[in-house]
Amino acid sequence: MIDYHIHTLLCNHAEGGMESCIQRAVEMGLEEICFLEHLSFDPAIRSHAMDIHEVPFYFFSLQRLKQKYEEKISILAGLEIDFSQPFASAIEELTHLFDFDLIAGSVHFVDGINIASRRHAAQMDDKTFEKLSVRYASDILALVQSELFDVACHLDVITKNGRSLPSEAKALLKEAISNMGQTGMALEVNAGGLHHPIAACYPCTELIDHALACKTPLTTGSDAHRPMHVGRGIPQVLDLIQSLGGTQITRFKKRKGRPMVIPQAPGVQTP
Ligand SMILES: [Zn+2]
Ligand SMILES: [Zn+2]
Repeated sequence: MIDYHIHTLLCNHAEGGMESCIQRAVEMGLEEICFLEHLSFDPAIRSHAMDIHEVPFYFFSLQRLKQKYEEKISILAGLEIDFSQPFASAIEELTHLFDFDLIAGSVHFVDGINIASRRHAAQMDDKTFEKLSVRYASDILALVQSELFDVACHLDVITKNGRSLPSEAKALLKEAISNMGQTGMALEVNAGGLHHPIAACYPCTELIDHALACKTPLTTGSDAHRPMHVGRGIPQVLDLIQSLGGTQITRFKKRKGRPMVIPQAPGVQTP
């Protein structure tokens, strides 16, 4: 099993250091993990992300830990970058400065609104949610079309608090997934939502089904924000992909993907 979505205390809203996460992953018998620390170029939302000046420390610490644990587990260095069109060239520049294994893109804020915040969701009426969802899905489509990323994370995380996607937003996300199938960009099946009010992984079954029909590559991630959550939900995600007829997930190294057959019985159970 692989967990391609792990955060550490560097992003200011997670707990635990890199080594605690690695030890937990080894304990669980994971084959490969990827740290995917948050990074944002937008000054308005940087408080939720690693500081840009910490990137060299982050990258080189991971190189050291890769070597230290190479007999026990494969460790990848990645980033989860908040996509925003005005920062596209800054994103491209930074990702060429370091030899990352995987560059993932996501959208957490639309017009300065944290789209997954419970507080905002509680205050929002259905009409406002509908408008925000369409804006969000357009941003995801732009993220995919930027071709800056290897993976798109938690594609419909805007449903986190239990609301379903309006049809216009869903159509835009489907278009994004079709584009990914053409360019070889991977769609993350994110287990984090299993523990949110929506109680389902991101994206929803209908969108995963669409990805399988478009031959869009898939990866799996827990979105762990503390060491205890590393690997959490990955067996369920693999079961879901297989139940929809999927047989492969994609692994990355130095930003090149290669498909891997999903083993019939995932060997590790989450607590
Ligand atoms: Zn995220
Ligand atoms: Zn994340």
